[in-house]
Amino acid sequence: MDFDQEGFIDCHTHLADSMFEHDIQNVVDNARRSGVIAALVCTVTPSDFPLVLRLCDQYPDILAPCLGIHPVQKDSNGEQRCVTQSDLDEVVAEIEKYADKICAIGEVGLDFQPRITPETSLKDSQRSVLKAQVDLANKHNLPLNVHSRSAGKPTITALKEFGARNVLLHAFDGRPSTAMEGVKEGYFFSIPPSIVRSEQMKLVKQLPIENMVLETDCPGLGPVKGERNEPSNIQISCDYIAKVKNLPPQEVKKITSRNAISLFPRLKRILK
Ligand SMILES: [Zn+2]
Repeated sequence: MDFDQEGFIDCHTHLADSMFEHDIQNVVDNARRSGVIAALVCTVTPSDFPLVLRLCDQYPDILAPCLGIHPVQKDSNGEQRCVTQSDLDEVVAEIEKYADKICAIGEVGLDFQPRITPETSLKDSQRSVLKAQVDLANKHNLPLNVHSRSAGKPTITALKEFGARNVLLHAFDGRPSTAMEGVKEGYFFSIPPSIVRSEQMKLVKQLPIENMVLETDCPGLGPVKGERNEPSNIQISCDYIAKVKNLPPQEVKKITSRNAISLFPRLKRILK
């Protein structure tokens, strides 16, 4: 059966975020109406795990879960802080338990914004949490859904060193030349709707279309800063790539969905 013709695949969302709590049904309906046929839902913190699993059970024909721990966590008063080994310890058993069910390990990665990692030891801590999750991905033959903020080069270097095999780098903010090192490894890059207001046009220009997929990262990274983003905005990413690559949007949709299915083969469970 041919899976790749029919619609958009949103490779990175946070639909279990509290910003969708009150109208998730509408958001999913809007996504379907906009031609979205599948969306990956990522966790950030340990408390997201049950929420993401429940949401994907609720909409099994369109949502697929990714479980993993993000490099940026929140402490009890809501302040952002760097991930620790004990955060990872909290979730490893859950990832193992659901390894056959999930589409990828994620969201994982490195975030070297100075306010998150003022000390070198914190960068090392993020690296070791990432390594443990790359090991889990390899153990279960799962792809990785990867965050890299102010850490494009360190993230690609770490993924190579840790032996990561199937990788999506989402919302990559590094240099195009660094991204091309990932392309050499067969990594994919997803483009969010915020591309229309970012300075990453050169990245879209340089990346081969064979290594590109679509994402919204909703509720973040929408076309308008500060406004809630939704999977129904995915067309914006598609149209942007089409314009830069001088391809028909229909072709970009087809190629990126085909790429998404090859990177995340368990999407076929949804698209059957
Ligand atoms: Zn994300």
